[in-house]
Amino acid sequence: MALQGLVSLYLFFVGAVFGSFATLVGDRIPSGQSIVRPGSSCNHCGLRLRTWHLVPVVSFVVLQGRCTACRAFIPMRYPVQEALLGGAVVLSFWHRESVLQVLMWCGLWFVMTVAISSDFTKLIVPNWLTYPSAGVFYILSALASRSFLHPLFGLGGGFAMIFIVHLLSGGKMGLGDAKLYLSIGAVLGVALTVESFLFACLLGAVIGGVLRLTGQIARKQYVPFVPFIALGVICAQFVFPGFPQWYLHHVLGLL
Ligand SMILES: [Zn+2]
Repeated sequence: MALQGLVSLYLFFVGAVFGSFATLVGDRIPSGQSIVRPGSSCNHCGLRLRTWHLVPVVSFVVLQGRCTACRAFIPMRYPVQEALLGGAVVLSFWHRESVLQVLMWCGLWFVMTVAISSDFTKLIVPNWLTYPSAGVFYILSALASRSFLHPLFGLGGGFAMIFIVHLLSGGKMGLGDAKLYLSIGAVLGVALTVESFLFACLLGAVIGGVLRLTGQIARKQYVPFVPFIALGVICAQFVFPGFPQWYLHHVLGLL
């Protein structure tokens, strides 16, 4: 038991380091910045961050979420994104069926973390991320599931579903989200992809509604949807994988 805990802690930290890197990629590349130089700095006063400022999640807690020089708040999404990828790596490991599947899931989480950052900073999910990812995840999923059709239906179904929502919403649901669902669909398959989207919409409506009602965000302010897509995938993949069947059977008395 203690060993399992240590392994989980180690995997969480490794995932959080990748989460930190994915956040940097999603913050900088869409703005045309290098991911190598300059080093990370405070967004407010420009203080160059030292190595101990950059330990994922831990530094944020030790610094109490503030810059050491100007005391400006460090955006909460940084430790949250790091913890999200760290937690997803741990969950992927404990739900594993093969090494290839774990690598594929962790890869998907990396891509989603980049997309979350890009959606926050530039309000887009870029094509350079979504198109190559879709190809890579299709191949990985076909190898892991030993089926060329299973990921193809997921990829096509995921994209078609969001594309229809994109048309019905008059463009409020972005095409970038639909392209991200190419990868999600390839990895999860059609059924879990549809379920993940339902969870994303539900969480988006509830959390977005609460944030608007409490004045945390303005009435017409853009709310990035990719974080809810990621939470929807967590719910469908790890928390309630059979929820639609359960609902249809136990609540509606069908199936
Ligand atoms: Zn500062």
